[in-house]
Amino acid sequence: MATAERDFYVILGVERSASDAEIKRAYRKLAQKWHPDVNTDPAAQERFKEINEAYQVLSDPDRRSRYDTFGRAGVDGGPGGPGGAGFEGFGGFSDIFDAFFGGGAGAASARRGRPQPGADLRYDLRITFEEAVKGTEKEIEFTALQRCETCAGSGAAPGTEPTTCPQCNGRGEVRSVRQTMLGQMVNVSACPRCHGEGRIIETRCQVCQGEGRTERKRTLRVTIPAGIDEGHQIRLSNEGEIGPRGGPPGSLYVAVHIQAHKSLTREGTELFYMAPISIAQAALGTRIMVPTIEGSEEVEIKPGTQPDTEIRLRGKGVPHLRLTGQRGDLHVMVDLVVPTKLSKKAGDPPPGTGKEAGKPVGKGGFLKNLGSD
Ligand SMILES: [Zn+2]
Ligand SMILES: [Zn+2]
Repeated sequence: MATAERDFYVILGVERSASDAEIKRAYRKLAQKWHPDVNTDPAAQERFKEINEAYQVLSDPDRRSRYDTFGRAGVDGGPGGPGGAGFEGFGGFSDIFDAFFGGGAGAASARRGRPQPGADLRYDLRITFEEAVKGTEKEIEFTALQRCETCAGSGAAPGTEPTTCPQCNGRGEVRSVRQTMLGQMVNVSACPRCHGEGRIIETRCQVCQGEGRTERKRTLRVTIPAGIDEGHQIRLSNEGEIGPRGGPPGSLYVAVHIQAHKSLTREGTELFYMAPISIAQAALGTRIMVPTIEGSEEVEIKPGTQPDTEIRLRGKGVPHLRLTGQRGDLHVMVDLVVPTKLSKKAGDPPPGTGKEAGKPVGKGGFLKNLGSD
């Protein structure tokens, strides 16, 4: 009763919707009755003070509206102000938000009375370099919570049905009104009987123990688009875990990991190949075989090719993931291999000018003459 009397409207004995005139009338009546000069009751002085305090707030439209929204905290300088005991006595800040904004922080209350969605799942898929460039289809197998076949996801034993929760009438939330130092507080919380679901199961399905879902293996075909890159994720909505008792499924994220190529590297849509070329080959020109996604391709190294020369094979790179028909290039980077040690025979004339120069690296000829002692 002590806390209830602290509410200004209660103190003046008027409705929350009372007009200014009604408030004034109520105040006059009470002030006459409780004025310490006329009332000998020992509590009269305290009571008179309280009536005045209430009237000062409710007779001022601005202060009254702040009081209506924030309670005493809005008119006497916030928690800890005169006559206030701070926010002690509340169940914490969430209660205050519940009271002011009508229950829960948005999403939490929106979920009440509805089945919870299932969790998202992640699957790590390893593919080859070529598969990433060309695109592929993969069959993946994984274990996930799926709809219980026995109860069709309801969680109720076959032949029975979940019933509407009698405590919250299916709303999934319960409201309680409390009198506090800030006035009347409406607290909204998840229904303790149905845990916010709005329905209760009297006889549980024996297979899923009332969960409405069981863990099972499943296989799924996943299309990997051409041009996918390391770390990309493919989102398959509704292929994740199913929610409990008929809740919607989450998403499945397939995270793609690409094996390295033995001689090509990739940056987005561009491919790079470091072509080892001897100084003699660079000077005299040669033909080399370059690995591509489609197979090897012969590329001409022109006579007099300089270090760090780049030869572009247009359209031999990686297809653009979104721009259909667009494809990057393959960059052949001339990597001049300078011998660190020369044999007497090759050392005499400068490399690249000798009579044996000009034969391809690795095919006998030139290398035979290098560093053989
Ligand atoms: Zn079941
Ligand atoms: Zn309930």
